[in-house]
Amino acid sequence: MKIFHCDSCQNVVFFENLQCANCGHELAFVPALASVTALTPAGESLWKRALPNDSPAETAPKLYRKCQNYDNQSICNWAIDADDPNPFCISCRLTQTIPALDQPGHADAWFRLETAKRRLIFSLLEMQLPVRSKVEDPEHGVMFDFLADDPPESTAGNPTHRVLTGHDNGKIVVNIAEADDAERERRRVLMHEPYRTLLGHLRHEIGHFYWDRLIRDSDRLEAFRAQFGDERQDYAETLKAYYAEGAPADWQQHFVTAYASAHPWEDWAETWAHYLHITDTLETADGCGLSLHPQRSDEPRLQAQPMRENPCAQPFEQMIERWFPLTYLLNNLNRGLGLKDAYPFVLSATAVEKLRFVHDTLSPQPQWQSQSQDQSQTEPQTLPEPIAKQNSPAATTAQVPMKTAVMR
Ligand SMILES: [Zn+2]
Ligand SMILES: [Zn+2]
Ligand SMILES: [Zn+2]
Repeated sequence: MKIFHCDSCQNVVFFENLQCANCGHELAFVPALASVTALTPAGESLWKRALPNDSPAETAPKLYRKCQNYDNQSICNWAIDADDPNPFCISCRLTQTIPALDQPGHADAWFRLETAKRRLIFSLLEMQLPVRSKVEDPEHGVMFDFLADDPPESTAGNPTHRVLTGHDNGKIVVNIAEADDAERERRRVLMHEPYRTLLGHLRHEIGHFYWDRLIRDSDRLEAFRAQFGDERQDYAETLKAYYAEGAPADWQQHFVTAYASAHPWEDWAETWAHYLHITDTLETADGCGLSLHPQRSDEPRLQAQPMRENPCAQPFEQMIERWFPLTYLLNNLNRGLGLKDAYPFVLSATAVEKLRFVHDTLSPQPQWQSQSQDQSQTEPQTLPEPIAKQNSPAATTAQVPMKTAVMR
């Protein structure tokens, strides 16, 4: 994540902030500017950037609207161009189903999920990955369903419908129980996982989506199979075997996590998620100008690096060399606060090579990037009608709280 400042007073502000704590201006993240921006009113439901008091007035300032989930729900803090016909920001428009907000805890769960999702979307935009909803692009778009298990009283003796977090052809389902700290921690312990977060879930699931986009039909498929294994082995069977027998004893030699050993697709998704952990955290460290100058020359060192627009645009060796001292510092600081290690993983040489594969998929001028640019040049740039006005089955559920949060 980059470091942001209030336009008006230059105070440091966080990506999630709604208001500058110093000067009181409302804030919004504007994807087109890739920045958190201080807002000042410019007409009904319209906003423009708040500039410093001594700067000359703009003759034709760019106008913005707040995302509908910012205005109505305080769930979001993103803005969109005033002439964008879609009432939702580019993150919220990817959410097709939200939990039933009249159920206790669901509004809080939705807030936490969208907050984590915006961090994910920020990274994807920085990496110049295609981010389109299934309403905009039914074949190659992505959408999120945030669903809850059926409440026990609604099942009348029948087995409770359990929502499985997962990905299927661009549809990402997340069980909102994962937004409950106690429940997520219970599951983490039950599954013997060292790390379980909402952001981690979202990074993992979107990894499956981009495997379809970047590997499945590309000339990288054979190289993928050589490194991660053949994904054509029976998915259900291998998952069943993983849950029955666990990971192989030597999984740490080959995989970034134990779960990555379940199937090549899971290996990719786990590795992809770690790549995003690495690039995002290194970017924050660089944004803060972090460097380590230990008193002993044999202790981990870290040189500050200039910020990059795209965090993938650096040599992989440099990235991974700088990641180790940063995790040493992160974990050490956490221990000082009585917390678990922030990054409780040891990356083997094989896992590092898999991370390199993800990096190489993203960082050179890859084929998919020029394809997506070609596409954006040839396809009409107009966006579809606002979701709520559309009449397609996908659109009718968009942003509508489901009574029970099960897909119907
Ligand atoms: Zn301010
Ligand atoms: Zn939004
Ligand atoms: Zn997965």
